[in-house]
Order: sequence, then C-alpha cells, then structure tokens
Amino acid sequence: MLLLRKSTTVTRYQQRIPRDTSTRLFEEAQQYFPGGVNSPVRAFRSVSGPPLFIAEGHGSHMTDVDGNRFLDFCCSWGPLIHGHDNPHIRERVIETVLKGTSFGTPTQMGNRLGKLILDNHRYVERLRFVSSGTEAVMSALRLARGATGRNKIIKFEGCYHGHVDNLLVKAGSGLVTFGTSSSAGVTEAVARDTLVLPLGDRDLLERTLTEQAGQIACIIVEPIPANNGLLLQDKSWLECLRIKAWKHDVLLIFDEVISGFRVGFEGAAGHYGVQPDIITFGKVIGGGFPVGAYGASKELMDFIAPVGPVYQAGTLSANPVAMAAGLAALEQCLEPGFYEGLAERTHTLATGIEGYARERGYPVHVPHIGSIFWLAFGNERIERADQIDPANMEYFKMIHHELLQTGVYLGPSGYEVGFVSSAHSDLDLQEALAKICAAMDVAFSKENQ
Ligand SMILES: *Cc1c(COP(=O)(O)O)cnc(C)c1O
Repeated sequence: MLLLRKSTTVTRYQQRIPRDTSTRLFEEAQQYFPGGVNSPVRAFRSVSGPPLFIAEGHGSHMTDVDGNRFLDFCCSWGPLIHGHDNPHIRERVIETVLKGTSFGTPTQMGNRLGKLILDNHRYVERLRFVSSGTEAVMSALRLARGATGRNKIIKFEGCYHGHVDNLLVKAGSGLVTFGTSSSAGVTEAVARDTLVLPLGDRDLLERTLTEQAGQIACIIVEPIPANNGLLLQDKSWLECLRIKAWKHDVLLIFDEVISGFRVGFEGAAGHYGVQPDIITFGKVIGGGFPVGAYGASKELMDFIAPVGPVYQAGTLSANPVAMAAGLAALEQCLEPGFYEGLAERTHTLATGIEGYARERGYPVHVPHIGSIFWLAFGNERIERADQIDPANMEYFKMIHHELLQTGVYLGPSGYEVGFVSSAHSDLDLQEALAKICAAMDVAFSKENQ
C-alpha cells in the first residue's frame, strides 16, 4: 500500500516555468476583487502557486501572460466544446456584433437558436433563455414551485447546481436531512426547504417522498454529476427518480448545465433515455458566451410570465451576440459523428491513463463519459461524494503542478473534471497521455523516497 507523505508541500515543487507576470497581475487583482478573482476556484487555492493569467487561446491550446503555452483540458470549465477561438463561432460573432450588441427586443438570432435546439432535442418543447447556469437553475426551481404550489425540494449530495440560495445546502446531521446552509448568507429558513439525500439511496428517497407528501415541489439532480468529481450513475437510478417523481406527483429536474450538448445533443436525458420534467442548460449552449436556458413541456412553460404567474426576466437574456455564438457552436455539434468521435478519443485518453496506472500499481481511475473525464484516486469505483478521500487530493496537487511545468492545463482542483474538445487532435491527446503518465510517475514516486 502506498502511503501519502503529507509533508510533501507544494512549496517544495520545482517551479520551472516563468510565472512573474501572472504573479504580479494576481497581486494587483487582490486590490480589486475578493481573493483576486471573480469566481473562487480560479484562485488556485487547491493547487500550487498563483493562478495563471491567460492571454489568448486558439484551438486546443492557450497561452498565459508569461508566454507559457498549455494544452487545455479545462476549456473554460466546460463551455468550449470546440476549443478556443473556433473559426465558425468567431465569424458569426463578428458578423453579429457589427449590427449592434443588444436591443432588449426579440431578435431573429434568438429564434434561430431556439428552433435549432427544439428541432433536435426530444425532451423539451419550449425554452427560456437566461444568462447563466445558476440563473437557469434558480428559474427552474421557481417554475417547479409555481406549478406545484409546494415549497420543498430534494437534492443530492455531490451535485452542484450553481450558487442558488436553496442549493447552497449540504446534508445536516442525522439521516434525513433537512439541509444546513453551506454558505454564510443563506438563511436557515431557505436551507430547511431543501432536503439533501445521498445519491443512489432508493429507500431513503421513497421514505422522504412519502413522509413529506404534499410538500415537495421537485427533485433536482445532475444526471451526470460532474462538479464533485465525475460520479457516474446507473441508468436504473435515473429511471427510479423518474418513476418515483411520477408516483409521488413531484417534478423531476435534470440539471444539464454541464451534460447538456456535451455527452450528446440531447445530453444525459438522451444518453439514458429518461424524460425529466424540466431541463436546465448552460456552458456549451452559449459557445463561450454567457447563456443559460431552461426548458420543459409547453404546458409547464406556460406557467412562465407573460403567459403564466411565475415571473422571470432578464435585461440581457437571449442577447443576440451570445445567441449567435451558441448557434454556431450547436450547429457544429449536429454534424454527423461529432459526439461519437469526441467520445472515442476521450475513451482512448482515459483508458490510456488508466492502463499505465494499473501496470505500475498507481491507485488511479479515470471515469469518463462522452468528452468528460476525471482523475480519481483510490482503488474503488466512486459513485457518491462521500467515497472521495480528501487526503488523495495531494496527489492531484502534485500532478497538476507537474503538468503545468510540461504544458498541460487541468482545472485547478482535484474535484474538477477535464473536457476534451473537438479541437484536440489525436496528436494532442497522445502528447497529453505521455505527459500525464510522466506526472503520475513524479507524484507516486515521491512517496517512496
Ligand atoms: C456550472 C454549473 C452550474 C452553474 O452555472 P453557472 O453558469 O456557473 O452559473 C449549475 N449546474 C451545473 C450542473 C453546472 O455544472
């Protein structure tokens, strides 16, 4: 059994790439933004050194302000399914920008993206565009409550749904499981409306739905949980959610902000063949611009203003430039073989890493689906949040650091997944495989010292 030497701190890592300009800019940024960032995980707190300030990205690579070039597997945390600076998206955006950037009116570009999605997605009949994944989830919850007239929601440990008050909630002590807030500023009253269950516990779900009958508006789940590692679920569990939601007359929300248009055009709903009542979208849908959306049947969406009583609005919703980017991105996703090719190349990368680790006895698994993969540490298959051992994140820290030195950029936390884009060539992936294997050698040899 390999033992992790906790004394191995990042400061001992050999820094071989220049980071001076990033360091200086990060110091400056602390004067402007809390922690120097506009979204917490960007601060690199779970890995070593200051965050890299990226200057530009093209295809599968990006370059930082010190001139270091990286093969990028963070891909802006998921949106960039076609990589950086995709020519088709760039051209559409420029063409659109030249006509003005925002009107606060309906536009043809909004219609075009709406039509493209609804024509090719069997699980939604009507959409509403918003400007982020968080906004999509927040609005979907309001719709569920407005349509059912009930307050409570069920969510699962290990699923992330953006920074919506009701969902910044973790399991309380005790079996079930009134939530307690996981962020200051989220009131206990709000947290109490959220019931937090472990993924996969069918009995507890049944019991909760029975005991709280008449109070629960919806069950919300990431059908492919990809924000706390990649916790791949059984199809039968998702089917169970569907059946129980019907049985107890509550709505089922699939939060597909990551999985939507990523594991297939119809996302997880299409991948597993499970019909939720409401789906939320984000990330890929905007082609690198701030777009989110939620969709459902016509009947449910008619609860939304101006038709129905559930109010939801947005000054920049369906912004034409963002719609143009989304349209150009999703058109390319619809090309024949697009998702199959991506999935195949991701599978090759993932099994390559896993095979190398197995040969050498490194405790590494690489769960993957579509073009999403995760470096998991330990010897068991991980399906629930509580199976992740935080101590193992030291391994990730070392691997992350080593990869930065050799020009591969992973999201700066071991709980984050990696994304392969259509801009990643076979050669890119071979290079990545070799470098990830070398980084594992460094991470796992240190402890044998
Ligand atoms: C990223 C994400 C969100 C939040 O989206 P933002 O655009 O960051 O607000 C919500 N749900 C899931 C599943 C996500 O992956």
